[in-house]
Amino acid sequence: MHDTLKSIFQTLSENAEENFIKNKNAEDYLAEDGLWHCGKCGTAKQFRLPERFLKMGMPEIVGCCCVCQSAKEKRENAKQQLASVIRENKENADIPEHYLSADIAAVESPEAKRIGMNYIKNFEKLGRIGLLLYGDVGTGKTFLAACIANALLNQGVSVKWLTSMQIVERSCFYSESEYAEYIRSITAPDLLIIDDLGAERGTDFALERVHSLVDTRISANLPMIVTTNIDITDMGNCTDLKKKRTFDRIMPATFAFAMKGTSYRMKQAQKSYETLKDLLLSEETIGKDRNTNENDQNV
Ligand SMILES: [Zn+2]
Repeated sequence: MHDTLKSIFQTLSENAEENFIKNKNAEDYLAEDGLWHCGKCGTAKQFRLPERFLKMGMPEIVGCCCVCQSAKEKRENAKQQLASVIRENKENADIPEHYLSADIAAVESPEAKRIGMNYIKNFEKLGRIGLLLYGDVGTGKTFLAACIANALLNQGVSVKWLTSMQIVERSCFYSESEYAEYIRSITAPDLLIIDDLGAERGTDFALERVHSLVDTRISANLPMIVTTNIDITDMGNCTDLKKKRTFDRIMPATFAFAMKGTSYRMKQAQKSYETLKDLLLSEETIGKDRNTNENDQNV
């Protein structure tokens, strides 16, 4: 115990004078107790070492943190911790390299941008509800998903990006622990993104693996963003029952959005559409766009 204390006080007394001067502010004052106090919070910025340590050649008074500086250091630490969580989440997210800098500000379609910004803003409120972005190649589904992922990553949300091809490739397990790790990788991230669903080769094995992953995620009440080239408005006529089964599972857990505009039939099909619409199509987030539109109308 004595040695531990000794080492603590040794650390405190190292460069004590230098550190004290560095942290000293103009408003600090020498109080009646003979110690310098912080001019902001009034608590001491110095303390006296026990007498027995003086005999070891340590100074009588050493610098310490006042209350406001301790709070500041705590905030700095929290900021650094958040930065390190964000860094780690980004490393584990597996977002394709050319989408790493995708920014919602660059989304051209005003409606797609609004959906994205509102999804980011309301991510916590939406809970288990995700997005189903569908449309032809080149409509920007993947880009929009990446924009949302990047923005949420910057807020400390953990994200995992998968393509349906990867799901098939990674879903061969040789042991129980591999299977457990696989399930963990699906359910651990706050947001799972499945890019290009339906592009997997239509073998029974592949379709079953994709369905099982989707089912695991939805059963855990966790949100997903799914992009697909399949026109889900035609799903009712889909002859591929295995694919239809997977989309039937996804639809109640997502807000479906056609990258060319929102399908009327999908609006009808989704029970909670009105509630979700308030959260996702609200123009509040995009104040600038709204103002511009209003001005246009007024003119
Ligand atoms: Zn202070």
